[in-house]
Amino acid sequence: MIPATGREVRLVARPVGEPDPSDFELAQAPVREPDEGEILVRNEWISVDPYMRGRMNDVKSYTPPFKLGEPMEGGAVGTVIASRSKIPEGATVLHGLGWREYATLDAGSARPVDPERAPAQAYLGVLGMTGLTAYAGLTEIAPVQDGDVVFVSGAAGAVGGVAGQIARRLGASRVIGSAGGPEKAAKLTKDFGYDAAIDYREGELERQLSEAAPNGIDVYFDNVGGDHLRAAIAVLNTYGRVAMCGAVSQYNKTKPDPGPDNLFQAVGKRLTLRGFIVGDHQKLMGEYVQRASGWLREGSFHTEETVVEGIDNAVDAFLGMLKGRNVGKMLVQLK
Ligand code: NDP
Repeated sequence: MIPATGREVRLVARPVGEPDPSDFELAQAPVREPDEGEILVRNEWISVDPYMRGRMNDVKSYTPPFKLGEPMEGGAVGTVIASRSKIPEGATVLHGLGWREYATLDAGSARPVDPERAPAQAYLGVLGMTGLTAYAGLTEIAPVQDGDVVFVSGAAGAVGGVAGQIARRLGASRVIGSAGGPEKAAKLTKDFGYDAAIDYREGELERQLSEAAPNGIDVYFDNVGGDHLRAAIAVLNTYGRVAMCGAVSQYNKTKPDPGPDNLFQAVGKRLTLRGFIVGDHQKLMGEYVQRASGWLREGSFHTEETVVEGIDNAVDAFLGMLKGRNVGKMLVQLK
């Protein structure tokens, strides 16, 4: 049965600094029946991700800004409830029209996923974009070599929670993570397989990192930017590599911090600092999913999710994620 309407979250004002709940609106919208070649999906899981903050600004970027007054977009997994395409009704699909209960879309822009292989929401996290981000960063951007000391910031989050474990499997001899607060820092070594943990809220990042890595670091996987990047540059060894994945410490700033004041060390140390966008590395997805599925089956790959229930709490989930209320992947489950 196709419902007449469904709820969707719209951006109604462009946030300045930290987004406010009043920048968003939960609205009722008609559910459109699929045309030829289209499917109608009932979303069951939607993803909230840091990059969405950037899409709320009206600036040129690698993805276009969200349009005011329209539903936002993002990763979602759901069940096909009507189809005029080769994808059958009942199939579970991954697609890009999140932030809403029902999505009608071209079948070609949805990817069927196997909920028997892994829980459906894993395709938004460890077996999806966030897992691939960690893998691409540590294999293609700042490749980990045998014996490397690797530092990962945002280490208790969706990307960071798997990055340390991937680095170890790629041959790292020591893996150091940073996260905000004593509980998260404790989880890094207890659950996420890090050898040493830094609580960045204690300050003195460079000192903490030097103590955790007495012989320096060889690879830095940067999720945070700002003071984390500065400390990493100070502690990186000659020929060190940085995968510049994100800079979540800066996303809500109206005036971003200036670049690290020790950048010139990159010359003497012959550092490589390289940014990347996961979408350019889709060709690695098959290889990554095969390897990660194996690690998950063995039970040796630790992943966590923070689940918020209901589309009416999706904005809170997004705002909470930016404040660090998540461990592992932040997800919204729709009933
Ligand atoms: P997370 O699950 O890591 O959630 C965001 C985390 O950011 C929070 O949990 C919080 O953790 C941390 N955080 C917030 N403010 C600060 C701050 N001021 N300083 C340090 N940490 C802070 O999100 P993702 O794993 O999805 O994303 C991690 C990073 O990867 C982001 O920068 C994102 O933009 C980037 N990314 C890049 C991609 C690419 O293609 N390049 C693709 C996917 C993600 P805590 O409690 O520890 O502060």
